[in-house]
Amino acid sequence: MIDDLRGELELLRELGYTHLDLSRAAHGQPAEDLPTGETLDDLGRIAAACTQCKLAKTRTQVVYGVGSPTADLMFVGEAPGKDEDLQGEPFVGRAGQLLTDIIKAMKLTRDQVYIANVIKCRPPENRNPEPDELDACRPFIRQQIAVIKPRVIVTLGRFALQSLTGRDYSISSVRGRWLDYEGVKVMPTYHPAYLLRTPAAKKDVWSDMKQVMAELGIT
Ligand code: URA
Repeated sequence: MIDDLRGELELLRELGYTHLDLSRAAHGQPAEDLPTGETLDDLGRIAAACTQCKLAKTRTQVVYGVGSPTADLMFVGEAPGKDEDLQGEPFVGRAGQLLTDIIKAMKLTRDQVYIANVIKCRPPENRNPEPDELDACRPFIRQQIAVIKPRVIVTLGRFALQSLTGRDYSISSVRGRWLDYEGVKVMPTYHPAYLLRTPAAKKDVWSDMKQVMAELGIT
């Protein structure tokens, strides 16, 4: 724990941080966005009606999340693509199939973990999420984590990593190194869509997932 903290502080120093603001406001979120007793179903219903950003106008449906409400392991991706927008479930397209294979290789099933994105509505033409959209949507993923209380979060790609941590990390600088999100261990790794384009990076993701399995006691 102390070693993890020391490692993270050293990393932040390497990245040029000279002081740390630990308030929630520094992460762009008021403290009161966290749920008090609501279930994922309640929160999902609220999300389904969301019009907080411009993606509400172009989505087919909100893609809130899927899996076990008591999962020890959560995967957090970027945003729904075309298949997800049509089916209402995260990671069901080609990248999703690869994520499902990764989960199986970890001796788990999609039902045993929880899968969500930092953006709940499809950006048109799968463009990158914009800062105002990430800000508007961030309370939802924070609420999901607060309710599920996973032991480990795997962030998939840059947008999930940066939106959750509130830091400008590049994937290459932190991939495979434990980070912290409000007391929950975070393992940043590559997005499965990147692996489809760069199969040579699969071995890095597998090495990251082995760390996650060890942390969760999966042998
Ligand atoms: N990519 C993501 O980041 N999330 C999905 O749900 C699908 C593809």
